[in-house]
Amino acid sequence: MKIKFWGVRGSIPSPGTPYVQYGGNTLCVELYLDDIDRRIIIDAGSGLRLLGNHLITEGFSTGSLETDIFLTHTHLDHIIGFPFFGPIFQAGTRLKIYGPVTCEDDSLEAVIGGQLSYRYFPVRQEELTARIEYINLKEGCFDLGDGIRLTTKYLNHPLLCLGFRFEYKGKICCTAYDTEPFQNLFITDPRDPAYDEIMAHQGEAAARDENHRLEDFFAGADLLIHDAQYTRQEYDTGKRGWGHSPIEYAVEAAMRSQVKRLALFHHDPMRTDTQLDELAKLNCDSRNTGNTEAFFAREGMQVEL
Ligand SMILES: [Zn+2]
Ligand SMILES: [Zn+2]
Repeated sequence: MKIKFWGVRGSIPSPGTPYVQYGGNTLCVELYLDDIDRRIIIDAGSGLRLLGNHLITEGFSTGSLETDIFLTHTHLDHIIGFPFFGPIFQAGTRLKIYGPVTCEDDSLEAVIGGQLSYRYFPVRQEELTARIEYINLKEGCFDLGDGIRLTTKYLNHPLLCLGFRFEYKGKICCTAYDTEPFQNLFITDPRDPAYDEIMAHQGEAAARDENHRLEDFFAGADLLIHDAQYTRQEYDTGKRGWGHSPIEYAVEAAMRSQVKRLALFHHDPMRTDTQLDELAKLNCDSRNTGNTEAFFAREGMQVEL
């Protein structure tokens, strides 16, 4: 498995000199299985534009690209690159786009392909020459053919968001793009008039169970790509409930799950290269991360499993 990061920035693209080393494009990761020439793209943030350009210059100009795009969810930073993905304008391109079913009425095609309407973009979806199939995805286990297994898991985010666990020939690549630790949703302060002791305990147990399930989902991964938008301090002072994890939590969860390599990403758009370097020194020191090798993902970085 070859993994390449085409976009590592969360929330919104962040161009500019303070961000050039880690990169300003939003989420897009390519998973390439070279022995069977199969490519899986995870999320369609602005980094997808670069991947599309790369594929075209590499020789897909004849339009013979066949690939799968798996969407974790449809927040803008994860889909904004789709209209700029060059291969969709080429006849012969075959795309399968998988994404979670939301509680809203709109189909995946309306949400993703709907970006190609005159309201937002000069080309309409109906004018595309590529063949695109949209497939709704839920929590479960799936056979993707060629010996590739996919397990999906609901994460904790304000919109239905899926974690992915791809397994191929004994190698495991796992993603938890936008998530934060599951929390007790009931009132925990006994002084609060609405406090209910039983509910508070049940809420605590439910959150603990979900966090354990998520760590089981990560277990033994050769690579885990995990949300690390905030520091613990930022999280505890106003960012709780925003759907993103503290870096420290991602490292601890990966260590508990015996993950071999941890790529921290979904960097905050305000986080400069200097700050990310400092956070890497603080959080990725191998003396503190046990058997897990942790690093902050950069645009253009490649990992081989
Ligand atoms: Zn995001
Ligand atoms: Zn999101």
